[in-house]
Amino acid sequence: MKKNKCSFCGRDEDQVPVLLNGLDGFICSDCVEQANNVLKEIRPHSKQASGPKDFSKLKPIDIKKHLDEYVIGQDDAKKSLAVAVYNHYKRISTQSDNNVEIEKSNIILVGETGTGKTLLAKTIAKFLDVPFAMVDATVLTEAGYVGEDIESLLVRLLQATDYNVERAEQGIVFIDEIDKIARKGDNPSITRDVSGEGVQQGLLKLLEGSVVNVPPQGGRKHPEQKMIAVDTKNILFICGGAFEGIQKIIARRLNTHTVGYGVKEKNQNIDKNNFLQYIAPQDLRSFGLIPEIIGRLPVLTHLNPLDRNALRSILTEPKNALIKQYIELFRIDGIELSFTDETYDFIVDKAIEYKLGARGLRSICEAIMLDVMFEYPSKNVKSLVIDKELAEKHFAQTELNHILNA
Ligand code: ADP
Repeated sequence: MKKNKCSFCGRDEDQVPVLLNGLDGFICSDCVEQANNVLKEIRPHSKQASGPKDFSKLKPIDIKKHLDEYVIGQDDAKKSLAVAVYNHYKRISTQSDNNVEIEKSNIILVGETGTGKTLLAKTIAKFLDVPFAMVDATVLTEAGYVGEDIESLLVRLLQATDYNVERAEQGIVFIDEIDKIARKGDNPSITRDVSGEGVQQGLLKLLEGSVVNVPPQGGRKHPEQKMIAVDTKNILFICGGAFEGIQKIIARRLNTHTVGYGVKEKNQNIDKNNFLQYIAPQDLRSFGLIPEIIGRLPVLTHLNPLDRNALRSILTEPKNALIKQYIELFRIDGIELSFTDETYDFIVDKAIEYKLGARGLRSICEAIMLDVMFEYPSKNVKSLVIDKELAEKHFAQTELNHILNA
C-alpha cells in the first residue's frame, strides 16, 4: 500500500513523529516546528509569534540594566520599578504553595513633568513584550459625565492586543496625571464631579482587581452592546503625576521650612533642594488622594528634576537618543553627520533658558535641523558638521525661536 508522505520534507509517515493531513497534502510535526521557527525569525514582534517574555529568567537587575539603556538617571525609580515588575510577573507566573497570596504591586511615580515617567513605563512594557496602554486621568469621569468612562482604560489595552483578552489581562496600563483627580475644593473643571473623588472610587475597582465589563468600541455603554469581560487582577497599573506643590507638604511633614530657617537639629541632613526623595504615602493623602487608592498603589517612588548634565546625556546617550536618530537619518542618505560639543551645550542651554526640560530638546533640535534636513539630501556632500554657529543661525531663523521670544 502506498504510504503517505510529508509534502514538505518527503519523509514517509512512519519516519516522522506525527503526520497531519490537509486537503491535498500532508505535513509532519517536524516541518510544522521548523515553519514556526522561520515565522518567529521573520516576524519576531508579531502578536502570534511572540508571547510575554519568560519572566522566570528575568531578574530585577536585568530589568534595571535595560531601563538604563533608554532612561537617564532616575535610579530610585528604576530600582523600585524593576522590583515591582519582577514581583508582579512572578506572582502571575507561579502559584504560591503556601496559601500566601502575593498582592499586586501597582506603582505610583511622582515627579515633575518631562522627567521620564511615561518613558519608564513604556520602556518596561516594551522590554517585557506585554501590551501597554496609556491614558490621561484628566479625561476620565464618573459614568454619566462628559468625558470617558473609567473602563475606557481597558478598551485601549484591548485595542493594543487586537482584542486578545488573555494577553490584555497581563498588560500594563499607565495612568498619567493621577494628581489631577485628587480631591480639591477649588477644582475648576465643570466636566467632572467637583471633588474628583468619584473617579478615584471608580479607579479603585480596577486597581484592586475585578472583572469589568468593557464596551468593545469604547465610548458610552449601550444596553444592546455586547460587553467584553476583562479581569484586571493581573494588569499592572503604573500611575504618574507631577503633584505640584507636594514638596511643601513633604517639607511640612519633615517639620522643616523650605526657606531653611528654624530647621530642627535632627533634620540637618535633609536635602532641601529635592524634597520629593522623602515622599511617603501620607503626603499623597494630604495632597488629596483617598486612602483606598494609596493602599492600592503600594510602590511609591519619585523622579528627580533633570539638571544640565542629565539633559546633555539625554540628548546623546540613550539607545534611541535624538542625536543618534539624526545621525541615522543622514547615514541613510550617505551623509556622515556630526555635532560639536558646543552645539550640544547650545541645545541644552536653550532648553533650560526656555524652561522646556527634556521635552524641549526635541523641538529645539527640530528647529535647528529643519533647514538642514530640507537642503542637504539634494547636495552632493559626504559629511556635515553642525557646529555652534550653524546651530545658532538656524535656530534664530525658526518659528520656534519667534514663538519662544514672543
Ligand atoms: P513625563 O511622563 O515624566 O511627563 P516623559 O517620559 O513623557 O515625561 O518624557 C518626555 C520626553 O523627554 C521623553 O520622550 C524623552 O525623550 C525625554 N526624557 C525625559 N526624561 C528622560 C530621561 N530621564 N531619560 C531619557 N529621556 C528622557
